[in-house]
Amino acid sequence: MNVAPAHARRSVNEPLIDSLARVTNDLAKAAREDDQSESFPTKAISLLQQAGCTKAVLPKVWGGRCLGWRPTSRATLLDVLQAIGGVHLSVARLFEGHVNAFQLLWTFGTSAQRDALCAHVHGGGLLGVWNAPSPRGEMSLTGHPPAAFRLQGSKAYASGAGHIERPLVTAKHEQLGTVMVWPLDSYVTGPASEWSMQGMRASTTRSVTFNSAITSDQVFGAADDYHRQPIFSGGAWRFLAAQLGAGRALLDVMRLTLVQRGRADDAHQRARMAEGAAAIETARLWVEVASSASFDDALEAAEVIAKVDMARMVVERQLLDVLEIVQRSVGLSAFSRASELERIARDLATYLRQPAPDGLRDAIGRRAFDAPIHPTPGLHDDLKR
Ligand SMILES: Cc1cc2nc3c(=O)[nH]c(=O)nc-3n(C[C@H](O)[C@H](O)[C@H](O)COP(=O)(O)OP(=O)(O)OC[C@H]3O[C@@H](n4cnc5c(N)ncnc54)[C@H](O)[C@@H]3O)c2cc1C
Repeated sequence: MNVAPAHARRSVNEPLIDSLARVTNDLAKAAREDDQSESFPTKAISLLQQAGCTKAVLPKVWGGRCLGWRPTSRATLLDVLQAIGGVHLSVARLFEGHVNAFQLLWTFGTSAQRDALCAHVHGGGLLGVWNAPSPRGEMSLTGHPPAAFRLQGSKAYASGAGHIERPLVTAKHEQLGTVMVWPLDSYVTGPASEWSMQGMRASTTRSVTFNSAITSDQVFGAADDYHRQPIFSGGAWRFLAAQLGAGRALLDVMRLTLVQRGRADDAHQRARMAEGAAAIETARLWVEVASSASFDDALEAAEVIAKVDMARMVVERQLLDVLEIVQRSVGLSAFSRASELERIARDLATYLRQPAPDGLRDAIGRRAFDAPIHPTPGLHDDLKR
């Protein structure tokens, strides 16, 4: 029986992947400890820094690799997110937020703002995007340029809360609309009990409350640039890549477990493995499609959104299937706190909960009614007669 990983293929020969591979064992060890302590993954983030991942977002003049905002970085980012997602999904979440924040602040920043951003990241700063609204009400920005502004209010579900010094925060301004703010002032973090979730315990996701003085150089872009398409919807491929990494890890651990138990030659186990392998391959192909679309300047925004939305729908379904396949194939021990499968499954199930999945499917269905995805010539005309 060949037990070499089924997903050993790499799309690029990339030094960043090699340096990440060198810290992967330590990252996996940290994942177990961070899950138990439910604390910010300080060691794991420093391993990413050591591997050069956090600074890779910087432009080349700052020693970076333009990761996440230059089309040439697509395959590398895809591999990096999958690799981190396969060992430490909470850290993959935090890293995804870092890449997302850099992309937005870089894209919509002035040249002076870009310099400040690069200096911060070059100095070791970790970024994040805190947009989820608080049930306590909207985050507001008051004041008028060029005078000082005031940022007031709360956000929910802020990953890295209390540890990310300078996150990107969205806020409503009466005249300017929704704006991106990159505050320098500190904020108040909600209690740990706010994240009593079964998984993603090391993501340190909490509420945050700001009451901060903001200068105009901390306000990025124009009204509603945060929601500018296709960047806004297109970026979803990044969390899909991280989730895919966790799904691949689950199937790999299942494979090794069944081989060790001498159950790999059982026809029922092979049937489930076939379904699991096909599910992972389907998800992988869709993440490829989504990531390629999101970097494809030749596509209209609507085309990118259509592709990435479909990828979200399909990948969620495939990974939910993988969760079931793995748990049924390995059985009760997959639920033991001593098993890697238990933690990875908890993290994946939690991270698969993303905004408005029904609305997403509804939009895909509407679009498919409005314009056939692949009309069949002849048949189409015939039906209209
Ligand atoms: C680990 C983790 C870390 C996160 N970190 C961050 C972060 O750093 N920054 C950040 O901004 N956010 C973060 N989030 C939050 C994330 O952006 C979403 O807000 C969150 O995942 C939404 O999940 P939900 O299940 O509550 O979504 P919902 O959209 O509430 O969906 C729940 C269900 O309700 C349905 N539904 C949705 N809207 C309606 C409606 N109007 N009427 C009827 N049904 C509806 C959906 O289809 C679905 O079935 C994080 C989330 C996770 C899991």
